[in-house]
Amino acid sequence: MRGLNRPPVECTACRARIYWPSSYPYPNEPDTVEANSYEPPPLVTSCPRCQNPVNTADAYPVLSDYPPRFNELRNAWNGFAAEYEFNRQTPEDQLSSIDLCNLPHDLYTGDGRVASVLCKRPDGTEERAVGKVFVIAAHGVETPKLLLQSRTEPRPAGVANSSDQVGRNLMDHPTQLSWALAGERMWNYRGPLSTAGIESGRAGDWRAERPSFRIQISNSGWGWPTGAPHSTVADLWKRGLRGAALDSALVDHSAREFTLACMTEQLPSAENRVVPDYEKRDALGWPRPRIHFRIDEYTRRGLEHARSVHQRIFAAMKSSDISHDKDIKPAGHLMGTYRMGNDPKQSVVDANLRSHDHANLFLLGSGVFPTGGASNPTLTIAALALRAVGEIKRGLGN
Ligand SMILES: Cc1cc2nc3c(=O)[nH]c(=O)nc-3n(C[C@H](O)[C@H](O)[C@H](O)COP(=O)(O)OP(=O)(O)OC[C@H]3O[C@@H](n4cnc5c(N)ncnc54)[C@H](O)[C@@H]3O)c2cc1C
Repeated sequence: MRGLNRPPVECTACRARIYWPSSYPYPNEPDTVEANSYEPPPLVTSCPRCQNPVNTADAYPVLSDYPPRFNELRNAWNGFAAEYEFNRQTPEDQLSSIDLCNLPHDLYTGDGRVASVLCKRPDGTEERAVGKVFVIAAHGVETPKLLLQSRTEPRPAGVANSSDQVGRNLMDHPTQLSWALAGERMWNYRGPLSTAGIESGRAGDWRAERPSFRIQISNSGWGWPTGAPHSTVADLWKRGLRGAALDSALVDHSAREFTLACMTEQLPSAENRVVPDYEKRDALGWPRPRIHFRIDEYTRRGLEHARSVHQRIFAAMKSSDISHDKDIKPAGHLMGTYRMGNDPKQSVVDANLRSHDHANLFLLGSGVFPTGGASNPTLTIAALALRAVGEIKRGLGN
């Protein structure tokens, strides 16, 4: 069961051999910290046995595909920033509303292009950013809220919203967490949160009945579901363990803690949406987001299936102390609130992330995903950003 496809690392202090768990076939998961052509691999936390810092550089799988993409993104951005002077916001600035040039204070003639963005600071001062091209990348809740709250008489439904799709189709990857104590020590709590997953659940006939899914194999013990290792210390303490006995029980428990997180596909639904709540305002006076979000039976069947798969894996690992979370956990993968499409009547941006309604407005991020699949979104976000950069540069050149 031990790390057959990755070499163990030896702790330089206590000589413990530290393994990756891996009797089940699973591919490596793209992870930026593994992109060692981009940044050197990190020194990882510590040896689970003696707490000595352990350099896992040798054990990290080297990804041949993704690092160049990250380099490409970084180079594209650096070149872009150097080539053009643009109004840089400070981290404290908040985008607050967008003006279109067909308003009375037009800077250009009324061709539907964005003319300026109003920014507000915590001290209440405001600044208006004027430019040729505007890029909003404030993620799946704030971007649609910003567009919707920028209401004007000619556009009462907000900016970029002639399709009435802004804010709709909010999706996540609803997650089933299950955790257990493996039959033998696996030495978790090292490296990135996850470096591998079971990816074979993405496509199949079953999608007529239940969603696609992927199972993330966690490297962080029971950290996500229970708050371990703190919760483990508290439990062992309550059982009366102290000193060396507590230390040794903690090492054994932590080394065997194992968590599976099954992330499922959620279908887009126009009713799952973000709107500005004009009754509830933040400290700057801007409306807070109001979110309507429901998980339907299709996704719930996937979560039920996940529990049975997890149970089979735990049994094969001779695990004990098996738990399946009764609550559905969010994955934090916000998607879908300004969807991409060819038809301006049914979507907000085109394939280059350009607003159908406003030729100089680009909306980046996973808000453009028309469907959510089951895979983590951020590499796709980066790939789409690379695609948009070309169009944005062309816009600045014209
Ligand atoms: C706990 C957790 C774990 C995750 N794990 C993974 C993972 O393993 N793999 C994966 O692929 N994805 C993961 N994700 C998702 C990932 O974090 C997002 O997909 C990614 O961060 C989205 O990038 P973004 O640049 O579009 O948005 P963000 O990273 O959210 O950036 C948006 C930026 O806009 C700023 N902003 C917001 N509103 C305004 C405003 N009004 N004015 C000015 N600035 C504003 C914010 O401060 C922020 O800096 C995880 C998410 C969470 C929450």
